[in-house]
Amino acid sequence: SSSKTATTTKEDVGRATWLLLHTLAAQLPEDGLSKQQRRDVNTLVDVLTRIYPCGDCARHFGELVRNDPPEVSSGYEFSQWLCRAHNAVNERLDKPQFSCDRIAQRWGKLDCAGAGCSLDDRNERA
Ligand code: FAD
Repeated sequence: SSSKTATTTKEDVGRATWLLLHTLAAQLPEDGLSKQQRRDVNTLVDVLTRIYPCGDCARHFGELVRNDPPEVSSGYEFSQWLCRAHNAVNERLDKPQFSCDRIAQRWGKLDCAGAGCSLDDRNERA
């Protein structure tokens, strides 16, 4: 085994986190969310503002969330909010803005074969 310690960059964590968040948003029901789902989404965002692995990122994200709290009325609204939030980070980092009307083309539902992939199927699995 190697004596080197594995390293993960801010960029690696960023790309992985955006992948998770945008995919999670796409997988939620496009219309109304349940009360539990709204609570879960708010909790997830809130937790990231405190224990996201990059401290400066977490603090900036916290500021952003205080100024523009998550829209959780539907999966669609949350995916649009997330796109806005990601664009705010892009702006800070001098990265190009992403057109949020293209969100469904870039981030789709989970490509997952077989039963049990959708959130709705959760209780139907054997
Ligand atoms: P990423 O920004 O990681 O995006 C990945 C892909 O998402 C892009 O290739 C594009 O296809 C798509 N995309 C781009 N914009 C959008 C959008 N608006 N909506 C939907 N999809 C989009 N890094 C720092 O250095 N400083 C910070 O303060 C900082 N804060 C962060 C806060 C959070 C909550 C997160 C999740 C990440 C943060 N990062 C921060 C990391 C940073 O956002 C990037 O992830 C990292 O710089 C790698 O960038 P990238 O160019 O590979 O693409």
